[in-house]
Amino acid sequence: MTEKPVLIAGGGIGGLAAALTLHQIGVPCVVFEAVREMRPLGVGVNLQPNAVREFTDLGIGKADLDRVGLPAREWALVGLNGNDVYAEPRGQLAGYEWPQYAVHRGELHMLLYEKVVERIGADAVKLGSRVTGYRKTTDGGVSALVEQADGSTTEVHGALLIGADGIHSAVRAQMHPDQPPIHWGGAIMWRGTTWAKPIRTGASFVGLGTHRQRVVFYPISHPDPRTGLSMINWIAEVTVDNAEGWQQSGWFRPVSIEEFAHHFDGWTWDWLDVPKLLAEADCAFENPMIDRDPIPTWVDGPVALLGDAAHAMYPTGSNGASQAIVDARVLGAAMLEHGVKPAALAAYDARLCGPISQLVLRNRGAGPFGLLNLVDERCGGTFDNIDDIIPPRERAAFMAGYKAAAGLAIEALNKAPPTIPHGARVRAV
Ligand SMILES: Cc1cc2nc3c(=O)[nH]c(=O)nc-3n(C[C@H](O)[C@H](O)[C@H](O)COP(=O)(O)OP(=O)(O)OC[C@H]3O[C@@H](n4cnc5c(N)ncnc54)[C@H](O)[C@@H]3O)c2cc1C
Repeated sequence: MTEKPVLIAGGGIGGLAAALTLHQIGVPCVVFEAVREMRPLGVGVNLQPNAVREFTDLGIGKADLDRVGLPAREWALVGLNGNDVYAEPRGQLAGYEWPQYAVHRGELHMLLYEKVVERIGADAVKLGSRVTGYRKTTDGGVSALVEQADGSTTEVHGALLIGADGIHSAVRAQMHPDQPPIHWGGAIMWRGTTWAKPIRTGASFVGLGTHRQRVVFYPISHPDPRTGLSMINWIAEVTVDNAEGWQQSGWFRPVSIEEFAHHFDGWTWDWLDVPKLLAEADCAFENPMIDRDPIPTWVDGPVALLGDAAHAMYPTGSNGASQAIVDARVLGAAMLEHGVKPAALAAYDARLCGPISQLVLRNRGAGPFGLLNLVDERCGGTFDNIDDIIPPRERAAFMAGYKAAAGLAIEALNKAPPTIPHGARVRAV
């Protein structure tokens, strides 16, 4: 067994899932997180069945996940006429062995942090420690350059470095110095939460509108037994023609509802009042639709990228957080096979970089929301009966194609052996 720990840059969803995985297989690790204090930031994210499966194998089960979200029951696309374009069951209702969870990103993050501290110790996450770069060392290991909150800098030696430092990754910037700037897709999203009565199944993800303007909403808490209200996560999205790009506004900038609610004036049906949903929000953030161009490799010898640092993608497929968790598990499996060595990182890269880079590009093409593009192409977005526009078989084939690309084909996932076999530990070398 290696004496030197694996260094993890970034204690977000991916970094903490990696720490828990390494601990499970007996590999020492330490996480460097830039923020000085962990706080429950963000709004809704989805954990797809492939990620819930990995959490289950990590000992993070239903009791934990029900604290931070609820099992999703349905995914539906609805046209502006209020008619369904497509609807399908989700999670175990769809035949997966594991549920899909819709959760509060910040609460999930705090849950993972709590598990890391409980299992590995409070020292496992060094807060106020920003990784600014790395240096490969002659013994085959790596040093992370770490800047402390007080401005001092240190160099920490480790066996490997995992860059899980998000979409603005410093590790990636050093690994790929010529990478283009962040890519903006011409859409602005405003995200927030509102306590309201959940609709349809009580746990439905609803995408309502057109390919250029829509609202997505879904509950991320069980209903309060006293009021019947759930925390509803919503995303209001418009495509804009603005050559200046998104740089004029920040990433996750807090905004007032008045700045954007007018785009959705009149979006009321007898089953939904979008202006009211927005007006009663607890919080709202502006979040441009951004990702990064795929890169040819996520690995540079003893250094690997994971999560958004490797493959920041549009949230159209609701799989950014899930893929970060799956990355962590595939990385652990590669260490079981190849040891805590660059060969493990190379195997991880060979398995995921190609297909997940394709998924990034597929999400640019609107991911599962691409059905709305088809509706627009074929009838300008106006329809009475969706079957006349896109026959049911074509809709089902479209969705199945996306699921296969995202590692969510039901049969394949149910039949796959565990990524990390129960009780497996990295052998001493
Ligand atoms: C504050 C915040 C709020 C978010 N809210 C949402 C949301 O509401 N909905 C949604 O779909 N997605 C949200 N995301 C993105 C989502 O968490 C990720 O897409 C997904 O979970 C993949 O996780 P990740 O660990 O790769 O990246 P992230 O979750 O972004 O985590 C990266 C971590 O690295 C830390 N970090 C960054 N640079 C450095 C550095 N140089 N050195 C050390 N640490 C560093 C960051 O502080 C962060 O904790 C949010 C991300 C953040 C950071």
